[in-house]
Amino acid sequence: MNRNNKNYNHGITMIDAEYAQSGIASIYLLEQAGQVAIIETGTTHSVPYVDEVLASKGLSFDDVAYVIPTHVHLDHAGGAGEFMHRCKNAKLIVHPFGAAHMIDPSKLIAGTIAVYGEKLFKKFYGEIRPVDASRVIEAPGFFKVDFNGRELEFYDTPGHARHHFCVYDIQSKSIFTGDTFGIGYPQLMTKQGRLIFAATTPVQFDPGSLLQSIDCLMSLKPEIMYLTHFGEITPTPEIVKQLKRSVRQFANIALDAQEYFTGKDKNSENRVDYIQQKLKDYLLDTIDEMGAIESRAFYEKNIDFDTKLNAQGLDFWLSKSAW
Ligand SMILES: [Zn+2]
Repeated sequence: MNRNNKNYNHGITMIDAEYAQSGIASIYLLEQAGQVAIIETGTTHSVPYVDEVLASKGLSFDDVAYVIPTHVHLDHAGGAGEFMHRCKNAKLIVHPFGAAHMIDPSKLIAGTIAVYGEKLFKKFYGEIRPVDASRVIEAPGFFKVDFNGRELEFYDTPGHARHHFCVYDIQSKSIFTGDTFGIGYPQLMTKQGRLIFAATTPVQFDPGSLLQSIDCLMSLKPEIMYLTHFGEITPTPEIVKQLKRSVRQFANIALDAQEYFTGKDKNSENRVDYIQQKLKDYLLDTIDEMGAIESRAFYEKNIDFDTKLNAQGLDFWLSKSAW
């Protein structure tokens, strides 16, 4: 059993999806009177890890009623087709803007290969199976599901992606936030708690919508947020402030980069590198303010992957916005 896996109250279990490496992406199981909902799917490679945890609880894929990716980015939904293939009794619940990509994943696959190349795609994601349209439930704007007597509410939360919803579990007063409530790895710990920051991954980052979506989640007065990246976090006022500040700061860093590169003979690859360095500087300074307990090199290593993706997303946001 993976050392990152955790059992929480209310039949909630977190399973390490082993996406790229340990400790990057979570999959959550919800148990309710012998039935299971799987929130986030990791990738096709993650399926055996969930199988193992179900077996340890005396459950199997036959007990899965719902498979629920918060959005169709492949670290969240890449395993959906394989899970649906294994879970014969399950329905897939997905945002209406993501449904078509689950039924026919060819565009999703092509888009991801364009970013990572064929070899890395296979390594990270394996085979992506399509999901039969008759097994797909679209959860629009506000949507409720009775999960074996347990009410799950779905809230449209654009800003990270337009095909993103968050799932509010009334029983545990917790929200499965996908990427809407940012990235907060437990290892990014400081004297004042965990560093948390926005995920501005390509290609639909929208800072205004993201700030509104965070407010929407907080209006539900949740006690716990279950982040996909990674594990649970208590949404204290300080955490919310830090997260919202990162949304604004990241957008400002991108806009400053836009100005810096205007009229300069530099390609957009340079702009991505430039933005990434500014993101790193900002986050490392924030860690210093919060009281570092590890070396700067340790923190820098642990934010390298996400600041790169964030920089690519911010660069794309600049290129499609008419500033
Ligand atoms: Zn995402």
